[in-house]
Amino acid sequence: MTTTSTVHVLKFGGTSVSSRSNWDTIAKIVKRKRAKGIKVFIVHSAISTVSNRLEQLIAQAIGGDYVEGYQAIVTLHNQLIDSLGVAENLLEEEYLYLKRLLDGINLLGEVSDRTRALIMAQGELWATKIGADYLSEVLDDKPLWLDARNYLYANPHSQNDYLSAGCVCDLDQDLISATQAAPVVITQGFIASNDEQDTVLLGRGGSDTSAAYFAAKLAASRLEIWTDVPGIFTANPNHVPNARLLNHLNYDEAQEMASAGAKVLHPRAIRPAQLSDIPIFIRSTIDSELAGTQIHHFDNRWGMVKAITAKNGITLISMESQGMWQQAGFLADLFAIFKKHQVSVDLVSTSETNVTISLDSLTQVVSERRLKNLVEELATICRVNVMKNCSAVSIVGQNVRAILHKIAPAFAIFETYKVYLLSQAASDLNLTFVIDDEHCDKVIAALHELLISNNPNSEILGPTAKELKKPATEVVVEKWWQQRRGEIEQCLESRENAYIYNLAAVAENIKNLQSISAVDQIFFAVKANNHPQVLTTAYEQGIGFETVSIFEVERIKELFPAIDTNRIFFTPNFASHNEYQKALDYGVMLSLDSSYPLKYWAKTFANKTIFLRIDPNVGKGHHENVRTAGATSKFGIPIQELEELLPIIKEHNIKVLGLHAHAGSGILTNEHWAEHARLLASVAKQFPDVKYLNLGGGFGIKERAQQTELTMEQINQSLLEVKAQYPDHQLWIEPGRYIVANTGVLVSKVTQVKQKQNYYYVGINTGMNSLMRPALYGSYHNIVNLSRMTESKNHLATVVGPICESTDKLGIEIPFPDTFEGDLILIENAGAYGHVMSTHYNMRAPAEEVCLP
Ligand SMILES: *Cc1c(COP(=O)(O)O)cnc(C)c1O
Repeated sequence: MTTTSTVHVLKFGGTSVSSRSNWDTIAKIVKRKRAKGIKVFIVHSAISTVSNRLEQLIAQAIGGDYVEGYQAIVTLHNQLIDSLGVAENLLEEEYLYLKRLLDGINLLGEVSDRTRALIMAQGELWATKIGADYLSEVLDDKPLWLDARNYLYANPHSQNDYLSAGCVCDLDQDLISATQAAPVVITQGFIASNDEQDTVLLGRGGSDTSAAYFAAKLAASRLEIWTDVPGIFTANPNHVPNARLLNHLNYDEAQEMASAGAKVLHPRAIRPAQLSDIPIFIRSTIDSELAGTQIHHFDNRWGMVKAITAKNGITLISMESQGMWQQAGFLADLFAIFKKHQVSVDLVSTSETNVTISLDSLTQVVSERRLKNLVEELATICRVNVMKNCSAVSIVGQNVRAILHKIAPAFAIFETYKVYLLSQAASDLNLTFVIDDEHCDKVIAALHELLISNNPNSEILGPTAKELKKPATEVVVEKWWQQRRGEIEQCLESRENAYIYNLAAVAENIKNLQSISAVDQIFFAVKANNHPQVLTTAYEQGIGFETVSIFEVERIKELFPAIDTNRIFFTPNFASHNEYQKALDYGVMLSLDSSYPLKYWAKTFANKTIFLRIDPNVGKGHHENVRTAGATSKFGIPIQELEELLPIIKEHNIKVLGLHAHAGSGILTNEHWAEHARLLASVAKQFPDVKYLNLGGGFGIKERAQQTELTMEQINQSLLEVKAQYPDHQLWIEPGRYIVANTGVLVSKVTQVKQKQNYYYVGINTGMNSLMRPALYGSYHNIVNLSRMTESKNHLATVVGPICESTDKLGIEIPFPDTFEGDLILIENAGAYGHVMSTHYNMRAPAEEVCLP
C-alpha cells in the first residue's frame, strides 16, 4: 500500500447534510480527525427528501406538469447554499442540466433506466458540491471533490443493472494516487458507472455500500457510518425502551441483523468491509463523542443473543398437498413456478404435507398482480393459502444453537401467539418466528426481556437508549484503588496475588446506610466477608451481625467477647437441631425459616423468644417465574402456613418478637425494602408480640457503568412512609454486599497471554479458587490491567485463572490493552462473596487477604 497515513472513510446520510448545524458537526468531526493526522474520505447522500422528490419528478415529467416540483428542488438546494454562505450560483448549470433531462422525458413520455439513474444521481452530485464548497471555507485543508463515477465501476454481473448495481472493490492504486495529496476528499454515495460510462445506481440505501467500496479500495483503517442514532441496538429502541446499545458485533451478526430488518446499516455495505477486514463504526452526529457500535472480526462462540429484530409486512404462502412431497422433483416444480414469476423466497419450512415460505418485503416488492398470477399457477399443483401482514421476529446472534436451552422459558410466550413458521438459519445466526403483525411488539418485548435484559454480564451490551439521552453531567469519580495504586503495587511486590481491602471504605459504606434514619438497627451479613479486621470495622461503627451458621455466631463472640447478644442475629436454613439449641443457649436472636423446628422441636423453643422468616414471594408474582419462586426457593415460611403455627406458639408460650424477610441479592430498586416492610407489617397483625421487622439485605451496588445506584435518601423516604403508617414497629436491615463489595479488589499477576484464533486469553495467577462467583453464577466483575491503565484497549479479552476447569474464567469480552507477563490485573468489587467462597482446588491456595487502613 502506498498511502502514507491512516485513512478513515466517513459516510453521512441525508439528514446529516441538510442543515447548517449538521454541516458544522461534520466539520467538527473532520477537524478532530485531522488534528490526529488522519486523512478523511467523506461519502455522502443527497439532501434528505431529494431522492424521493427526484423520483416523483420523473413520474411527473412523464405525465405532464413537473415545473413546480423542479422549482421546489431548486429552492431546497438554494436554501442550504444560503444558510451555509457558499457561492450563490454554485449549482446554476446543474439546475439547467436537470431541467433539460426532464424536458426530454416529457417530450418522449417515457423514461429509460439509464436516464432515470442519471437524474437520480443529481441529488448526490449537487449535495457534495455544496458540501465541498462549505468545507473548503471552514477547514484548514481544502477538500478534493471527486466524481464517484470515475472510481466506482459496476461489476461484470451488473453492467445492465442501472438501478441497483454491485461494484468492484479491489484495492485501487489509481484512487490511492489520485487522493494521495488530499487530506480531505468528498464524494457521492449511491452512484457509479458502467463500461459504457453510463451512470448507474447502487440501489436504495446505496450510500452505505459506496462508502464500504471506497474503504476497501483505499484499504482504509476504518469505515464510519454516521447516522442520527447512537449505534445498533439490541432491538428497535422506539419499541423496546430497554434496548441496549451493542458495543460490538461481528460482521456475520451485523449482516444478519441488517438483513433481518435492523435499519441502521444497509446489508450490502458489510461484505466489502469484511473482505478487507476494515472495522465499521456506526456513530451518531447527535452525540459525536460516543464510540457507537463497532463491527469487526471476533468470535461470539458463547452464543450470546445480540438482538431481537423484526421484519413487518411479510407475506406467507402456505402450500398443502397430500403425499405429493415424496414425489421426485415436486419441490423443484414448485420453486420453478416461483422462479418463473420472479418472486424470491426468504424463509422456507417443510413438513410431509405442507411447505410454507415467506416473501421478503425488504428486498423486493411483489405487485398484487404478480402475486395473483403466482398463486394461480401454484394452485394447479397444490392447495395454496396466502397470509398477509405477518412479522418475522428473529433472535440474532452467532451460534444461537448454543443458547437454545436458555431460551426455553421464552417459548412460553408462544402459548398465546400462533407461530406460522419457525426457522433456524443454517448459518446458525438466527432463529426466526413468523407471527401476526399485531403481536409483533409484544413478542419482541417479551423475548428481549428474557434473552437480553436478563443477560447481566457482558461488555458487549452498552447503555439503553434512555440512558444515552440523559445529560452527561455525571463526573467520573476516581475509584479508591486508583487513588491508592501505590499501596496496591507494594502489596504485590512480595506476592503473586492478593485480596486487598480498604477498611476506610467499609466504614464509609456503613455510614451511608446509617443515613437511613428510618432504620433502627443495621446488621452486617457476615457471610459476605468474615475477615477479622473487616468485622472489627463494622463493630466499631456500632452495627450488629447477621449470621447463617453457629460458627459465624461463635466467630463474632470470640472477636468481641463483650458484645451485646442483641447485636447478633442468627438465620439458620436447614440446620440441625443442635445449632438452634446452641443459639438459644448463647442468647442470640434466632430466626426460624421453616415450620419444621416448631412442629417437631417445639419444646426447644418453649418460653423462648424467636423471629419468623417469611417467604415474601408468595402470592406476589405477576409473572410465572416470580410466582414459582416462592415454592422453588428453599428459604422462608409461606405466609399461608403461619396460621397452623399459631396454636403451637401459644401452647409453648413462644414469643414471636419479630418477623424477617430477605429476598435475593443485588437489588437496585429503592422501594424494595418498603415493600417488604408493608408485607411484614400486615403479617404482624397475627402476632401481638412483634416489635421488629427485619427487612433483609440484598442492597445492590453499581457494577456496570449504565446501572443506577441505590439512593439512601429515597430508601429512607419510602421507609419513613411505612413507619408513619406502622409507628409501633422498628425496622432493621442486614446488608452484606453493600458494605463490603466495592471495598475489596483481587489483584493478580499475568502468567501468560495466548491468542487462539480470535480469542485473546489473559492468564493470571489465581482464578476460581480465589473468586468463584463468575464460575458459580456468571457474575460480572470489571477487570483492568492496572499496569497499563492509559493504553488503548485493542482486545476483547477472556481473563482466566490457572485452574483445570473450563469455567475458570473471571471475565469474558473485557476490553483490554496489549498485555504482558507480570502485569498487574485488578478485579473490582471482590470484597463481598470473594475470599469467603475460596477453595484450595488443584492445591492452589487462594489469594491472601491484606487490609489497607
Ligand atoms: C446473604 C444474606 C444477607 C445479605 O445479602 P446481601 O445481598 O449481601 O446484602 C442478608 N440476609 C440473609 C438472610 C442472607 O442470607
